[in-house]
Amino acid sequence: MYSHFTKLILSLAVAAVLGYLISGLTGLFAACCAVLLGYLFLHLYQINRLFRWLKSPKLNNLPRSGSGIWGNIFDTLLSQAKSRKKRKQKLSSALLHLNRIAEAIPNGVLLLDANGRIEWFNRPAAQHLNLDSTLDQNGILKNLVRAPEFHTFLQTAPDEQQPPEISIPIHTLHGIRNILITRSAFDKDQTLLVTQDITAAEQLNAARTDFVANVSHELRTPLTVINGFLETLIDMPDMPREQQQEFLGLMQHEGNRMLSLIADLLTLSRLESPHAEENRQPVNFSALIEQAAAEGGSLSQGRHTLTTDISPDIWVNGSQLDLYNAFSNLIFNAVRYTPAGGDIRICLQSEDEKHARFSVSDTGPGIAAEHLPRLTERFYRVDSGRSRHNGGTGLGLAITKHALAKHNSNLEIESRPGHGSTFSAVLETR
Ligand code: ADP
Repeated sequence: MYSHFTKLILSLAVAAVLGYLISGLTGLFAACCAVLLGYLFLHLYQINRLFRWLKSPKLNNLPRSGSGIWGNIFDTLLSQAKSRKKRKQKLSSALLHLNRIAEAIPNGVLLLDANGRIEWFNRPAAQHLNLDSTLDQNGILKNLVRAPEFHTFLQTAPDEQQPPEISIPIHTLHGIRNILITRSAFDKDQTLLVTQDITAAEQLNAARTDFVANVSHELRTPLTVINGFLETLIDMPDMPREQQQEFLGLMQHEGNRMLSLIADLLTLSRLESPHAEENRQPVNFSALIEQAAAEGGSLSQGRHTLTTDISPDIWVNGSQLDLYNAFSNLIFNAVRYTPAGGDIRICLQSEDEKHARFSVSDTGPGIAAEHLPRLTERFYRVDSGRSRHNGGTGLGLAITKHALAKHNSNLEIESRPGHGSTFSAVLETR
């Protein structure tokens, strides 16, 4: 600054001396005025350039001005603009990063202002509450989520220790979902809502409760029978030996039912456990089906015409035990559900170079279409009396389904009442 001022004084002094030498005092005065006007003009010109640049301050159109005070001013502005640009870039990438984090959180997050107007929400919140990411921005939330209990909930004062929460059903593109909404105070006059889709967790809970109820029921029935016989035996010590033997036989039958139920439960829990040890090895699939068919034959005791069409030497990779469980269940079911005199046909053939198809067809009663999708559910039976009479636990097809899933396969069922059933599966061969 000092040097610019010195320059002006020097220019004025030189002009004054020259003016004075050329035409005395008038010359001195005129020369000084000319220098001052020149300076004034120069500064007005630079101010104008600066003003124009300030109206749209872009880095690449900042005026250049070499040396001098304007050169310094423009250089300073340039370096400030550059560091501002860097800061802006950093901020916007941090913002982008935060936005990506907010989108990646599986929970929905939604910010409301004092009037219940939506200020911001992430994608999961839009999915959970069925909001439109663009149209519903700035909308009043209670007009968009129409559930009276939710409106009351929005008015509940949040508590830091125990933020209020509510679970409401929301109609979404994927059907009705149960959404848990937790409300906490955020900044002054703002409310933060966190949403979570708990449909699957609730279904799992319901399935668990159903399962416990089913198992208890299945175990209670044989235990009640055993208890009944025991009481009779205690009350009647003089019961004839033959009748005693009959009662003991029936008790043993019920005991065996409980044992097979527990064995099936353990198999199922092992198959469902993600931590279960995988015992994969080359398995002679043809031999395994031959063996299951032979056992099916002894179960039938000649009551059915059993035919087999098993290609030799088909090998797969997998667990011998799980595969045996899966396919023997299907064969035994065919035997157990087909009335005497019926036909059962067991096939294992190559499907293509890398796959083999197993199928077991029977001329049994067949299954109505409405039961087919639920047949592999645990304890699902078309006719529970008949299943129990046949010694079924209601877990056979659930075991088959899980065992096949472990071998990247699935159970195909074709059945029509009065026309028998065919259960089949395709496995990858070695
Ligand atoms: P269960 O121990 O009762 O046999 P499963 O899970 O093996 O249990 O089978 C479920 C139900 O599917 C059975 O209760 C039965 O009603 C029906 N089902 C299975 N296989 C056949 C079949 N081959 N023919 C007719 N119904 C069958």
